[in-house]
Amino acid sequence: MANVHLDEIPEKVSRLNGQTAANGRQECQPGSAGGQDCQPDSFGSLKGQTAVVTGGGRGIGRAICLELARAGAHVVIGYGHNRQEAEETADACRRLGPEAQIVEADVSELSSSKKLIDEAYKAYGRLDILVNNAGITKDTLALAMHMEDFDRVLKVNLYGAFYCAQAAAKYMLRARYGRIISISSIVGLHGNAGQTNYAASKAGIIGMTKSLAKELASRNITVNAIAPGMIDTKMTGAMSGVARTAMEAQIPAGYAGRPEDVAAAVRFLALPQAGYITGQVLGVDGGMGT
Ligand code: NAD
Repeated sequence: MANVHLDEIPEKVSRLNGQTAANGRQECQPGSAGGQDCQPDSFGSLKGQTAVVTGGGRGIGRAICLELARAGAHVVIGYGHNRQEAEETADACRRLGPEAQIVEADVSELSSSKKLIDEAYKAYGRLDILVNNAGITKDTLALAMHMEDFDRVLKVNLYGAFYCAQAAAKYMLRARYGRIISISSIVGLHGNAGQTNYAASKAGIIGMTKSLAKELASRNITVNAIAPGMIDTKMTGAMSGVARTAMEAQIPAGYAGRPEDVAAAVRFLALPQAGYITGQVLGVDGGMGT
């Protein structure tokens, strides 16, 4: 095969397509009737859709709520116990234009998770996007782990995600459309000393995601997971300076991510245009997991 220089590729692709526009699209002429390519670009829009975000009051969940609202979605914010944080997030979403509501919902309880999903559907008459974000840690070495701490982390992180996904899928199946996105973790892929319970819950999310994706793909419902690396939130704020420095040394990008980095990935997977992406685990980790 002949050598091809990288800077020649766009030109070659355009020539292969018989097109002149640099990005491979036909250019729109003033006054032309115009096809799909001549419409204003709606890529990135979730206008009119309804999204549920669990644990949306703060941290990564809050950034996700804001990003989905920025894209035009009405947001229903599930919160475990801190009503004030949830109200602040809802106010911030409303300032971006769409509507926002808060619903008290401890995702570790089946009835509470169902209530969150049902109330979101009732409020807007549709449910397009579910983001399973709520999560906790209860870290200690395996031999010192109390079973209550193992159970609690599994209950919130994994059972909670399944309860919400199952309840949401019922509405999405009827609509023949949906996006289910769960926040896993790099720890679910690679493990971490002191986090056997958390790693099990986050690995469980990945298995659940891949299986659910296979069950729902034919109904136009995608199911994906995001595996953040180290993101600056209250969850990581509890780390000691030494642990933090050691962790940062493992990040090829050289710094911890921001909640907005995860939110951008959620928005992408939530788009109608991401409909052929399902059963995937998207790392948002500054290269840490590669
Ligand atoms: P955070 O502690 O700031 O936020 C967690 C949110 O979950 C809070 O709003 C909390 O109220 C909510 N929550 C906890 N238990 C709940 C329950 N039973 N029911 C409903 N809501 C509940 O942490 P964060 O860093 O923003 O984490 C968000 C998600 O991202 C979690 O699933 C976490 O495991 C995951 N994650 C975080 C990092 C990181 O470095 N921060 C890395 C990988 C994955």
